[in-house]
Amino acid sequence: MNEHEEIEKALKARLSELRTHRAKVGRELHKLLPADSEDQAIELENQEALEAIDKTETTEILQIEAALKRISEGTYGTCAKCGEPIDPRRLKALPTAATCISCST
Ligand SMILES: [Zn+2]
Repeated sequence: MNEHEEIEKALKARLSELRTHRAKVGRELHKLLPADSEDQAIELENQEALEAIDKTETTEILQIEAALKRISEGTYGTCAKCGEPIDPRRLKALPTAATCISCST
């Protein structure tokens, strides 16, 4: 019985959601630009927005993967810097937190 089972479940659900969405964004990003230059300008702006989304989602995916790894290794909930337990309230608000509040600032 994993004490972080609930969090693990929630993180895994979020991870698959993010992966699905990122795959969609990726397909949009790799779509060919329209030949018309006006459409191209719109499309480029669109691509910039998509790239920003892709970046944010990639970061979140990496954070979730790291948190899942800490759960499986049994180090989840322990600050990666000082080794003190992370406040459960902080983990609730930010399940991917790897450090305690004092080490995060
Ligand atoms: Zn700490």
